[in-house]
This record gives sequence, structure tokens and C-alpha cells, in this order.
Amino acid sequence: AFDVLVVGGGPAGAAAAIYAARKGIRTGVAAERFGGQVLDTMAIENFISVSHTEGPKLASALEQHVKDYDVDIMNLQKAVGLVPAKTPGGLIEVKLENGASLKSRSVILATGARWRNINVPGEAEYKNKGVAYCPHCDGPLFKGKRVAVIGGGNSGVEAAIDLAGIVAHVTLIEFDSQLRADAVLQRKLASLPNVRIVTSALTTEVLGDGSKVTGLTYKDRNHDQVHTVDLEGVFVQIGLVPNTEWLKDSVALTQRGEIEVDHRGETSLPGVFAAGDATTTPYKQIIIAMGEGSKAALSAFDYMIRLEPA
Ligand code: FAD
Repeated sequence: AFDVLVVGGGPAGAAAAIYAARKGIRTGVAAERFGGQVLDTMAIENFISVSHTEGPKLASALEQHVKDYDVDIMNLQKAVGLVPAKTPGGLIEVKLENGASLKSRSVILATGARWRNINVPGEAEYKNKGVAYCPHCDGPLFKGKRVAVIGGGNSGVEAAIDLAGIVAHVTLIEFDSQLRADAVLQRKLASLPNVRIVTSALTTEVLGDGSKVTGLTYKDRNHDQVHTVDLEGVFVQIGLVPNTEWLKDSVALTQRGEIEVDHRGETSLPGVFAAGDATTTPYKQIIIAMGEGSKAALSAFDYMIRLEPA
């Protein structure tokens, strides 16, 4: 059995594994895809102290750093269930899709999240070529350009306000007949001179020239007319979905599926900690996930040293 079993091999999981292994305890990492969302990222310019890097490069550096330690890396392993310890301080079980199960005295959940797609032609083709999901990450790449934000909930309206300060023009596109963001955000958005708000609009296609985005089309749902907007970037903001479906019967999740954690990374289950995009920690970013993963590992270590010797 492990002392610390990390589920997830993104920035949070890698950081947790390194911090745990450095305490000299038996550490394992099971990940569906080591590297996580970082693998799908091109330019990374906000990983502090590194002016510019690329996702695949950072992902392989994460794996290399974990391999510097005695960590059992189980890549391409999907967890499908978590079974609490039968007795306080006992072994916690993580069930894998392949039928095997892993046992550990403590577990760190770091399964991350995924952006919800709009699923229209051009979205996948132009991902990282104008189609973006993270305004904090990619906003500055569109300095002085025209962009659209798809989605008029809090995250879409926040993104539009944020981007309006950087880009030349923002078109906010909402499917519903009205925005769903908090009133204070809507007022702020309406006060900005370089933002156009389009409601009752169904985005139908992301247009491009083969190498980058050149526009998008949307259907006006009231008049059934299709309109084209010329632009260079499309930010999709229709939700970030935590990869926690497999945990819904075992740890406390919010309505949105985020794992509830306290300031030490503890979940509702003793001995089970969580970190990164899968949790309630605000602002889903690499550097934050790494900090939270490190913190969860230190909390797991603190938990372990208080257990009776096995
Ligand atoms: P993830 O990176 O999502 O990793 C989750 C891990 O868990 C993966 O290994 C996954 O395979 C695994 N997993 C999931 N479910 C299971 C399961 N059931 N069993 C086993 N393993 C599982 N952030 C920045 O700071 N700067 C940027 O420039 C930036 N750009 C981005 C660009 C894009 C296109 C995207 C999608 C995100 C970007 N982000 C950026 C956000 C950043 O990637 C995330 O905040 C960060 O990766 C979260 O780390 P994490 O470890 O919590 O989760």
C-alpha cells in the first residue's frame, strides 16, 4: 500500500507527488493522461519566472521532475471509484477502470477539469489558433485585436470585461434572451465603450483561413438570420466541468461538481485531500494548481504522522 496516492498527473498532481516523495514516504501517482490540460496548451506566459514556455514542454518537465524521485507513476490509469477506510486511519481504496484497485493511507485527488465546448464547425480545428478558453492565459495574445466571448454567465461577462481592457473590441454572444451574470457585472460590461452584447444568438461556426480564426457566424434566434462577425479570437466561456463524476458518492462536492476543500486542502473524508481545478479553489491556473497540490501533500503528511504506526 502507498502512504500517499495521488490521482491525476497535471500540475496539481505532479506538485503533490514531488512534495510527498520528498518526505520519504511511499508515493504513487495514477493518471489518465500525465500532463493534464497543460498538454493541450500552446503558449504559457504566466508561469512565474518562466517568461514563455509551451504546454507539451512543461508537461514533459513535470513528468521528468516527478521521475527524479522514487514515485510509482501509473500513467493511462483512470480512477472510477473511491472507497473510504473501513476504520479511522485505515487504508483508502481507489478503484481503477481496468478492474485493479490501489490502497493508500492517504489520497490526494487532483483530477482537474475540462472546458465545455460549443461543438460547432471550426472550434476544434482552430483551438490554440484563435479559439481560446482562458482569458487570464491567452487574453494578452489578442492585444489590439477583435475577439468574441461566447457565454453570458458570470465567467463570460468577467472574461469580456477583462478582455475589453486588452483587446480592441469584444463581442459578447449569449444564447438566451438575456445575460445571466450578476447585475453588477452586467452594469460594468454595459459601461464599456468597446463591447457589443448580442443576445438570443446561437453560435453556428468558427471561421478561419486554414491557419487562424478570421470570424464567426451566429444565428439570431428571433429572426432566424445568420450574421458574420469578423474577428481574430473566440473565447468560449460556457463552463468548466470538474472531472469528479467518479467521486459523487464518496466526497462532498458542490452543485457544480467541485470537490469541497478547506484552506489545508482537506475534503469531507478523513485522509483524503484535493487540489487544483477539480476543487473549489478559485482561479484555475497552473501556478495555483501547483501551489495547492504542494499544500495538499504537506497536509497529507501531517495527517500521516498522526496515525498510529501501521
Ligand atoms: P489538469 O491539468 O486538468 O490535470 C488533471 C489530471 O487528472 C490529468 O492527468 C488527467 O488525465 C487526470 N484525470 C482526470 N480524471 C481522472 C480519473 N478519473 N482518473 C485518473 N486520472 C484522471 N493555466 C495557466 O496558468 N496558464 C496558461 O497559459 C494556461 N493556458 C491554458 C490553455 C488551455 C487550452 C487550457 C485548457 C488550460 C489552460 N490553463 C492555463 C489552465 C491550466 O492548464 C489548469 O489550471 C491546470 O492544468 C490545472 O491543473 P490540475 O492539475 O488541477 O488539472
